[in-house]
Amino acid sequence: MAMKVAICGGGIGGLTLALVLKKFMTSSTFTVDLYEAEPSFTEIGAGITVWQRTRSVFASLGLQATLENRALSPPMTLRKSDTKEPFVFHTLVIPHGCIALPRADMVQLLVESLYADSTSFLTIHFSKKLEVYDQDGYGITLRFADGSSSRADVLVGADGIGSPTRKTMYAGIAEHIAQGDPEKATSILQSARPTWTGTHAYRTLLDREKLKTISPQNVMLGGGLLWCGSGKHVVSYPISPTLINILFFDTIPDGLGKPLSGPSVVAASKDEIVELYKDWEDDLRIAAENIGDVSKWAISHMRDLPQYADGRVVLIGDSAHSMSTHFGAGAGQAIDDAYVLGRILAHPKVTANNIAEALKVYDAVRRPVASTALEYSLRTGFLYEFHPDYLPVGTDIEKLRAGDRAELKKVSDDLQDMVRFHWAELPEKEWDRAREALERL
Ligand SMILES: Cc1cc2nc3c(=O)[nH]c(=O)nc-3n(C[C@H](O)[C@H](O)[C@H](O)COP(=O)(O)OP(=O)(O)OC[C@H]3O[C@@H](n4cnc5c(N)ncnc54)[C@H](O)[C@@H]3O)c2cc1C
Repeated sequence: MAMKVAICGGGIGGLTLALVLKKFMTSSTFTVDLYEAEPSFTEIGAGITVWQRTRSVFASLGLQATLENRALSPPMTLRKSDTKEPFVFHTLVIPHGCIALPRADMVQLLVESLYADSTSFLTIHFSKKLEVYDQDGYGITLRFADGSSSRADVLVGADGIGSPTRKTMYAGIAEHIAQGDPEKATSILQSARPTWTGTHAYRTLLDREKLKTISPQNVMLGGGLLWCGSGKHVVSYPISPTLINILFFDTIPDGLGKPLSGPSVVAASKDEIVELYKDWEDDLRIAAENIGDVSKWAISHMRDLPQYADGRVVLIGDSAHSMSTHFGAGAGQAIDDAYVLGRILAHPKVTANNIAEALKVYDAVRRPVASTALEYSLRTGFLYEFHPDYLPVGTDIEKLRAGDRAELKKVSDDLQDMVRFHWAELPEKEWDRAREALERL
């Protein structure tokens, strides 16, 4: 039976989904339209971390060689840095290692793999910005900003944190509920809006040679570092032989869940960072005094979205579970969503007639896993900053802040435990669970 899939958004999630469909669909009557708002595939930002979960998806797609010739990142070392007498208190053990990849390289890699060989199943539409959709018993009508419209059997919202697909989906769900329970409808609508985590990230790059000249023994030259301390933390790692990627995080006490005042990204100054970290270890202060341009990002997330699918419409990636950056999992989770959803859509039992049931299987399998990644991400960031509400039970916060090794070990044990998420279970297992559920359709 013919099936027409519309993917809204050509970011990491949307492109991966197209690739999974290319690899696994068996019917020649299966067609995919990918709608991207921008005039080309683009990716902003510096680096993303590729963990074992993502590498296993690439292996299933036959693309492992595209990643495996990249160098593994050096292990990340945790430092107690909010002091003039800093020290290392843990190095994260990551059995398979991970790869730091410029985000643009990841998009390029996906696009090249997509265009290789036949792409007759796929039509890519650039400068097509979805505004809303309507859903009826037979399919979806997508309505675009240029006034045009299009029909599909299933719509995948891969359109990022500001997703118009999610907005339309939840406006519809809330409208339906409002007839019987207006309060619940309001809270459902609320759950579909991203909220602030209380943290700002100052993102910048540092010229490695410049730092080497000014501060030849600077620990930042050595590899990946997590600079920890009360209320703030910093992540630094090399993204090329010449550049170090640095993120300076600053958390407002009790800011979690508060509405954002002002835009989510603004230009910032080096002086702001130097002032924030003036009491931290000298190597960090010296690095901060020599950074390039800085942008200040409000880190938002979307916690507890109650469903990723509604009828023939489904959300993947940031549109479903935009998360904070501390766990390096956002892009990986978008890829995992795309893998499981793509396998479901390509399964011979799934047709335009039972698609809504099949999308419920995706929701049941993927939502708990992505929610775990989201919560771990929040918790990881707060543990780096010794946030009192997130410390392991029994931690003595005063001793921890003073640098007590036993208390720091409680924190690093917790972090080490969470990081296992990236390899403990692979997305193939999630697909196995989905496949078993599809057999019962
Ligand atoms: C500073 C920072 C560091 C990060 N570090 C990591 C990391 O180390 N590891 C990691 O795994 N993740 C990381 N992430 C998260 C990761 O980048 C995202 O989770 C990932 O890009 C999500 O992919 P996506 O395809 O769901 O959404 P996006 O990448 O946002 O793509 C959405 C696409 O949809 C398009 N679009 C939007 N609206 C419309 C519309 N109306 N119509 C049509 N198209 C539309 C957009 O143009 C875009 O191409 C980081 C994020 C940030 C901000």
